[in-house]
Amino acid sequence: MSRIVYVNGDYLPESEAKVSVFDRGFLMADAVYEVTSVLGGKLVDFDGHTTRLRRSLSELDMPSPATDEDLLAIHRELVARNGIEDGMVYLQVTRGAPSERDFAYPDASVPPTLVLFTQAKPGLADSPLARTGMAVISIPDQRWARRDIKTVQLLYPSMGKMMAKAQGADDAWMIEDGVVTEGTSNNAYIVKGDTIVTRDLGPHILAGITRAAVLRFAAESQMKVEERPFTLDEALAADEAFITSATTFVMPVVRIDGRDLGAGRPGPVAIRLREIYIEESRRAAI
Ligand code: PLP
Repeated sequence: MSRIVYVNGDYLPESEAKVSVFDRGFLMADAVYEVTSVLGGKLVDFDGHTTRLRRSLSELDMPSPATDEDLLAIHRELVARNGIEDGMVYLQVTRGAPSERDFAYPDASVPPTLVLFTQAKPGLADSPLARTGMAVISIPDQRWARRDIKTVQLLYPSMGKMMAKAQGADDAWMIEDGVVTEGTSNNAYIVKGDTIVTRDLGPHILAGITRAAVLRFAAESQMKVEERPFTLDEALAADEAFITSATTFVMPVVRIDGRDLGAGRPGPVAIRLREIYIEESRRAAI
């Protein structure tokens, strides 16, 4: 069955869902996005994602294509029309399609482009990788300097995933000025003793919506959290490590650059936080 995709007000079969070749998202990566996971047919942390979308739009002076209420209605309609039980909704806003390619932004008469589609991921919360844990490699962080804005400039993260794959690993952690920034599409954490360490927020990383929830749950469970830069050597000497993102939730990391962390198995902190996150997300999903 063909997927139903949302494009600028219309729900269309995916083969009919199209945007202009003059769209600035296509020509200039002048676009921002969000990915919201779906558990049991409901949206996880929808408010967090729309709040971050608003911020990305505002940092780029990009017009908003819809109200939060409209966005929620579109998400729900797509989940229903595509029969999504577990999976995700991808949303992208671009600065629209002016009649000519030009570096300068178009004037206000050009409406933004809004596209949403779903991806079904049956058993999303029961990933086999969560049982074995994942392997990461380290690579230099060669992205632009405004990673706090969730733009579609994903070529370097994409290259990073390919570098990881070529080495038999699952993902790459990026290193800048001697410290870990984040994973290619996730936030990075290490655990040493009773302390969880993750990079502090700023332009150098994306403020993960999952990160915010997980740090809240960690604090509520009396776990110690330090938001500060950490080095690759610190990570290699850690007891355990993990990543967070909307689609992986909390995922244990058991190997970095071919070296096992601790016993080379998912650690207790990552396992516990994953359980809490999934349980709380199911409960609070809308
Ligand atoms: N960091 C980067 C670079 C990402 O691309 C993502 C998600 O796509 C994240 C972190 C995690 O963010 P979230 O938890 O909101 O999915």
